[in-house]
Amino acid sequence: MLSQIALSIAESATLKLNETAALLRDKGEPVIHLGGGEPKSRAPIDAIIGCTSILNTGEVRYTPADGIAALKKAIIRYTEQHYGRAVAPENVIASSGAKQSIMVALQAMLDPKDEVIVPVPYWVSYPEMVKLAGGVPVPVRAADGSFEPAFEDVAQAVGPYTRAILLNSPNNPSGAVYSEDFVRRVVELCEQKDIWLVMDDTYNRLVFDGRQASNACAFTGEDVDRSKLVIVNSVSKMYAMTGFRVGWAVGNRELVRVMTNIQSQQTSGPATPSQWAAVGALNGVQNCVDALCQTLQNNRDVMIARLRAIPGVKVTRPAGTFYAFPDFSAYEKDSQKLAAFLLEKVRVVTVPGREFGMDGHLRLSYCGTLKEIKEGIERIQWALDPHAPNELFLGSRKLVRDWL
Ligand code: PMP
Repeated sequence: MLSQIALSIAESATLKLNETAALLRDKGEPVIHLGGGEPKSRAPIDAIIGCTSILNTGEVRYTPADGIAALKKAIIRYTEQHYGRAVAPENVIASSGAKQSIMVALQAMLDPKDEVIVPVPYWVSYPEMVKLAGGVPVPVRAADGSFEPAFEDVAQAVGPYTRAILLNSPNNPSGAVYSEDFVRRVVELCEQKDIWLVMDDTYNRLVFDGRQASNACAFTGEDVDRSKLVIVNSVSKMYAMTGFRVGWAVGNRELVRVMTNIQSQQTSGPATPSQWAAVGALNGVQNCVDALCQTLQNNRDVMIARLRAIPGVKVTRPAGTFYAFPDFSAYEKDSQKLAAFLLEKVRVVTVPGREFGMDGHLRLSYCGTLKEIKEGIERIQWALDPHAPNELFLGSRKLVRDWL
């Protein structure tokens, strides 16, 4: 017998798609991957130096479960610089990715049947993580189909079992940056109702057009150790260091203490070379973040212009991240069917919106090359638009559209 909780956890559709795409690639198929979740740039040199220095000593040992002092120091400085918040080492826990920080935070906060509010669209892992921690995810969608629910709808969803609200801005999958007003009101609501607010700021330096993501800390006057506001961050996306697996959370010391206890029993501290790499990245030259942002903004503009040329596709210009989340329901309302169709017919990998709580949409990544973006969207247009020419060449292979 397997546990009820385990059986309730869905298979990751993203990983499954990756598997299918890899199988096709192995067979020599010209797959274009618009499903990816990581920048293609190299890790910063300061990260590599930090990492190789410890490796060269040949002495790679366990670290404290909440991270090495040098990493905590770097995180404290980062928090001061980007959030204007002065915190102590006891307010900081480093984890194996933002994913683990969020998971351990949820385990620290939830009793069975406690509820966590997640605005729709949400990152695919949130509902499953809440369930793994024994809780119940409560999705809240915008009545107008947009990517930011009305504050009133979030407030309405708060009930006697609500323990936390989980916000991700800039948002995976929509690329939306929540308005300052929305974030401020949610911070105030959580303080009034005495519930946790977890801000997943994984993408908060990847914002375009000179904008900045809202800083939730700016809206609280509470002392950090009385506050139920938790800020989660990661080196994964902003420094293109997904494989290093280092993220962190900053919160009140009681929460961090309990999270550390859980993490110490679960996995111990993050891998030591990765922690030194994160120290290097955080303390090193920062122009790589601006360079990545510029590249992504350019990629976004190319992708959005091409998507807008497809009749019937509705697309909102993403303000951050490296995802766009167009609405393809004019062609197919079932996003899983549509993603499977695009992979089968034109070998383009996309992620069905249903995984993020919004059917009819597809998540398309623009963290790849411009060539992939242009060709990927061209193939999608060809597959869907009945006015497109009847034939398309994938390399030397001629495709003939026989399904419209
Ligand atoms: N939060 C969001 C919204 C993400 O998209 C991701 C990665 N896809 C994570 C957290 C996890 O990041 P990490 O690699 O630091 O675990």
